[in-house]
Amino acid sequence: MTAPAHHDLVALVGPSGSGKSTLCSHLLSALSLKLSVSYTTRAPRGSEQDGVAYHFVSRASFEDLVAHDALLEWAEVHGELYGTPRALVDKAQALGQGVLFDIDHQGARQIRAKLPSLTTILVMPPTWAELEQRLRGRKTDSPEVIAKRMQNAAKELSYYAMFDYVVFNDKLADATRDVEAIVRSQRFRMRFAADAIESMLRERR
Ligand code: 5GP
Repeated sequence: MTAPAHHDLVALVGPSGSGKSTLCSHLLSALSLKLSVSYTTRAPRGSEQDGVAYHFVSRASFEDLVAHDALLEWAEVHGELYGTPRALVDKAQALGQGVLFDIDHQGARQIRAKLPSLTTILVMPPTWAELEQRLRGRKTDSPEVIAKRMQNAAKELSYYAMFDYVVFNDKLADATRDVEAIVRSQRFRMRFAADAIESMLRERR
């Protein structure tokens, strides 16, 4: 008898500037997770390539995906539409592969309703001042855009109670270790081992 196969399902949620993207990259490589690449109607920023962080589509194409039930969840975020492709998750599940979702609180809530073993982690900036400093440091946004992002951050964080775990991203090395530990620990949950243990017990009866 071997230990039960696990397959991680993780949603990382956090405001722009929380360091969520860096933590996502770490989880993808350290735990061999597959990134769920969302569809979005927003335009690519800077050097973003189609199919890497997002599939960039028109509003009409997005509506078509919704009509064909091709999205596991979708939501409007800052006036644009974002959605998780159902096919990627179905395929990963069939192959026993873990999936990482980089989505907002609305998406996390919807996916959890369909996939109850989803682990949701909120990435917190350590302080408002630090968040603002990080957003300014990117030197890509105007003061108005930064003010808007700060406002959006407060809104996103106000949903904190729905998440299973929270990591304060003060020191990146610590936060990286902590999100990895959270995801790894899920693999040892008793509810994933019931079949394996039952089958072992049957061998002795
Ligand atoms: P951005 O446009 O800055 O890349 O993303 C804006 C927000 O939309 C982020 O919080 C991001 O996690 C969220 N998001 C990205 N993809 C999806 C998705 O497929 N579904 C939902 N609900 N949110 C998403």
